[in-house]
Amino acid sequence: MAMEISRNVQNTNLVYSPRYNTNLVDYGIDKPFALDRGQLVLGQLAKEFGKTLDYVEPVELLPSQLNLVHSEDYLIRLHKSEQEWIKIFELKANEYNPHNATMPLMDLFHDISLKAGGTLLASQLALEYGLAANLGGGYHHAFANCGRGFCVLNDIAIAIKVLQADQKINKAMIIDLDFHQGDGTALIFKDDNSVFTLSVHSQEGWPEFKQRSNIDVPIFTGEENLYLSKTQNAINHALKIFIPDLIVFVAGSDPYEKDVLPGTRFLKLSLEQLAQRDSFVIDTATKLAIPLVMVFAGGYGPYVWEVHYNAVKEMLAKTGFLKNN
Ligand SMILES: [Zn+2]
Repeated sequence: MAMEISRNVQNTNLVYSPRYNTNLVDYGIDKPFALDRGQLVLGQLAKEFGKTLDYVEPVELLPSQLNLVHSEDYLIRLHKSEQEWIKIFELKANEYNPHNATMPLMDLFHDISLKAGGTLLASQLALEYGLAANLGGGYHHAFANCGRGFCVLNDIAIAIKVLQADQKINKAMIIDLDFHQGDGTALIFKDDNSVFTLSVHSQEGWPEFKQRSNIDVPIFTGEENLYLSKTQNAINHALKIFIPDLIVFVAGSDPYEKDVLPGTRFLKLSLEQLAQRDSFVIDTATKLAIPLVMVFAGGYGPYVWEVHYNAVKEMLAKTGFLKNN
């Protein structure tokens, strides 16, 4: 019996657009971001199952949705100031040459707003199907009034606030397992009792100054063997004291031993450990019947897509979008 992938466009829990793979060269940028993770995941799934999987394409966020999280002043700077973008993407002189650009740096806003819109759309699909993924997004370092650490718009916070404003959810939990602390999201929801923030991250990793989440689990260098138990204990505890209507799973692949960003060297998890991590989160939400949306967040270099591939495949299998015929 061959595996068959559902072909009904209405019937998918994956959100993606070919525009996620932004051609940075058009903007004069020469920096090795792994923007093609969604494409690589879809490509491998197509190879393994013999068919191209369906996905839904998001649209850019509306100004009224951006305003739920970001200050007017910051949004104006994004539209007017090239320097703002150079700062957020930490572009050194040799990584940005406006003379090679065919598009102004500020126009990157549209692709980023689209990817952030993907997190909102995937969250809506999660409420419908139980599990859904945006094959991108997860910009957890963006604050209300500034972006940083390659994060421009806090798509996680925007999605939650839009769903709350639309009265689709009351309470949300963010389970952030990226290598880096989910500091932007933690600060945005610091005084908001309707959103529970949990972050498991490298203590030695950037940012040096950490914000306060509802639960922070610092992992120290050499604690790879404790990572899974610490993560599982924290998630189990969080879900005993807070029952959300939606879980946003920030599934960064940068704790992977094959991640190439020099700053992620403090944590070297194997592909198997990360598969167990992601299975645990997906299983836990499924058992408790809490809708879960997954976003990719950090991950750098040619191999990190392998982590996301395992998690997406598991989600597809669990929701029945990978069908046995
Ligand atoms: Zn990260």
